[in-house]
Amino acid sequence: MQLLHVSLDGAALPLKAFSFSRRARAAASSAAAAASRPMIQRRNNALVRAYGPGKFGLSFELFPPKTEAGDKSLYEHVERLVGFRPSYITCTYGAGGSTRDKTLEIVQQVKERFRLPVASHLTCVGSTADQLRRFLTEASERGIDSIVALRGDPPRGETAFKAVEGGFCYANELVSLINSEFPHFGVAVAGYPEKHQEAPDERTDLECLHRKVHSGADVVITQLFYDNSDFFRFRERYEEIGIAAPLVPGILPVTNLAQIQRITSLCGARLPASFIDRLSKRDDADWQFQVGVEFAARQVQELVDRGIPGLHFYVLNKSQATAAVLEGVRMPSRK
Ligand SMILES: Cc1cc2nc3c(=O)[nH]c(=O)nc-3n(C[C@H](O)[C@H](O)[C@H](O)COP(=O)(O)OP(=O)(O)OC[C@H]3O[C@@H](n4cnc5c(N)ncnc54)[C@H](O)[C@@H]3O)c2cc1C
Repeated sequence: MQLLHVSLDGAALPLKAFSFSRRARAAASSAAAAASRPMIQRRNNALVRAYGPGKFGLSFELFPPKTEAGDKSLYEHVERLVGFRPSYITCTYGAGGSTRDKTLEIVQQVKERFRLPVASHLTCVGSTADQLRRFLTEASERGIDSIVALRGDPPRGETAFKAVEGGFCYANELVSLINSEFPHFGVAVAGYPEKHQEAPDERTDLECLHRKVHSGADVVITQLFYDNSDFFRFRERYEEIGIAAPLVPGILPVTNLAQIQRITSLCGARLPASFIDRLSKRDDADWQFQVGVEFAARQVQELVDRGIPGLHFYVLNKSQATAAVLEGVRMPSRK
């Protein structure tokens, strides 16, 4: 069984019975989480500060542009997004470490230019543990205090993830490394409301997520999804298994049907048929933008109304769609 790979403490994480009330579940969930988490001091960093009573963590995710024009445009869009008072901004880490320096440069620039908290993504792809340590050391030296810790996808053309010699097979190992050697970092990890594509079933995937959080994560940010019932079902199972870290939905407002079909085919998220029908009614950029934004605003409003601790927008280096969604939603009051 795949879980034999886990080296955290050798103990299997038992699933709880799925039949008790919500309040009992919440209490059991916090108690179990407190008992099962390693001794981690609540640290003062972007991720830890973003969530909690009276707070609502709003975050935006960027990716490193490939050109100077892309850089310039990125900072113009970030400037617009700053108006929404993000709790922090993140930047992705490209396949195989291809954007290593650029990722760090962007988060540092955003932090310094806009005086915003930031988090850098980091994957295990193609890196030994020592190379990961060097990245974390450099991130720390640049004043970055939070990491979105990921395993990463197999390189293009390969179907299975292979760790390099001296590297890691799973994100929980990276989380453990950060927790033991760089404990000042805030750590976010990825969760999958529709199950990770490689996981044999939802329960196994959730056990892996539990293990990852138990290794020292402060927050779980989800993969994009378009059917809120997938998120609510996931959240219920997440609480039942005893994971207490804030669970933050990842939202990608659709602005172009062909683009979103490409993205969802890669990450395995489903687009509801009725949404595709509506988007495809007109092959017109303005129409698709408007339909996508209206859909996302309804999706986000329902999530907010049902008590999420924050929102993470995949902004794809543009501000218009995210801004239009946020302007159309009644957000919770924020400290
Ligand atoms: C919020 C977010 C941000 C992202 N940012 C980036 C980015 O910057 N760069 C990038 O390249 N990709 C990024 N990704 C994509 C991510 O790298 C892929 O989804 C990748 O396939 C899985 O990464 P993970 O960290 O979830 O892996 P893991 O948590 O390691 O899970 C991978 C698979 O292994 C299973 N598994 C996990 N732990 C164990 C274990 N101990 N034993 C056995 N099986 C296990 C899981 O069930 C899952 O099927 C991001 C995804 C999200 C949701």
